[in-house]
Amino acid sequence: MRKNILMKRDYTSKEIKKLFISEIQRHNSTLLINKNNLIFNANYLFKICKNTVIAPVIKSDAYGLGAIEITKIYINLGLKNFFVGNTSEAIKIRKKFKNINIFILNCGMIFDFNLLKKYKLTPVINNINQLTNWPLSSKNKIPCMIHIDTGMNRLGLNSKDFMSSENKTKLKKMNIKYLISHLACADDEKNSFNTIQLLKLKKMQIYLKHIKGINIKTSISNSSGIWLGKKYFLDLVRPGAAFLGINPSINNPNPLKNVICLYTYILQTRIAYKNTTVGYGASYKLHKKSKLATISIGYSNGFSRLLSNVGSVFINDKEAKIVGKISMDLSVVDITDFKESNIKVGDPVEIFGENRSIDDFATLNNTIAYEIICQVGKYSKKIIY
Ligand SMILES: *Cc1c(COP(=O)(O)O)cnc(C)c1O
Repeated sequence: MRKNILMKRDYTSKEIKKLFISEIQRHNSTLLINKNNLIFNANYLFKICKNTVIAPVIKSDAYGLGAIEITKIYINLGLKNFFVGNTSEAIKIRKKFKNINIFILNCGMIFDFNLLKKYKLTPVINNINQLTNWPLSSKNKIPCMIHIDTGMNRLGLNSKDFMSSENKTKLKKMNIKYLISHLACADDEKNSFNTIQLLKLKKMQIYLKHIKGINIKTSISNSSGIWLGKKYFLDLVRPGAAFLGINPSINNPNPLKNVICLYTYILQTRIAYKNTTVGYGASYKLHKKSKLATISIGYSNGFSRLLSNVGSVFINDKEAKIVGKISMDLSVVDITDFKESNIKVGDPVEIFGENRSIDDFATLNNTIAYEIICQVGKYSKKIIY
């Protein structure tokens, strides 16, 4: 059963900054992860996907947020099935959590059956070679998933290989838990490619029924797939981003709550004179006497150099423009327009989260929120509160 964890009181943003300011001041960048909002998003998913297994995807260290800590939250919510990216991630999770099912999206080129058995891991078969070499001899047949390529041209067997006559006996005997596929355009509900992919997977399910006499379960949806509606839920859904509040549907408002905020702090302020320049390459020239704040974050923290001279941050909820090039672990912003009383050294600086959504921040960086969190997660202090 999935449990509803009682939410603790929601902190205001002022309280949060007060609570964590000393942590923020000890690190270049601090990622605050709001557990209440993550649980809100999980409950939102539970409500829509009532009769479908929800198996969170925790690959790439739970999208940079810390796989162990994030998985612990999911397990406390009653979730039991998880997808990881590779065998080493799977083992790390298994060593911490005994009573969950772990599915490996990508086991590499060949399977290490000893490891799979030792750690009770379920692999996904991603190509014809892996299927051909799949062993049938052992008494306890190893469970697996088979990935059918329905349009990504990335991983998975194409239908021709899957249905080739040499595989019939093998498929008949195998312990196949799920037939899975992955949608290419799920974030756009108007795209007809979604239906095409769904039908292709269902066709393979029917083919397998002819061979095995039973319906093997299927799965096609990531977070965005869930937003395409019930038809796409099938027997199991694999959301990752939705838990974290990333908008699953590009044409629609985001019903999920924001989970992650990235902060740094003001390290120094200074008065800079007219016609002087800021930073490497002297790329920004001041046209008047200005007040500048040096903030303790740079490209080594995942704060991309692409934002040099174009991006902005928020200090006490007011926007401040980035001036000059972003350095490795420092950046400079213009605070000339700030009231003296509204800004001081040590104040927290928001990169994204409250005043700017992570999706909007990603757009400014010419990318998607997924890439942003994977990067900033790696190089920031992470606090789950
Ligand atoms: C990463 C991944 C998911 C999760 O995708 P989200 O968009 O984060 O929900 C699901 N299925 C597969 C095969 C994946 O690689």
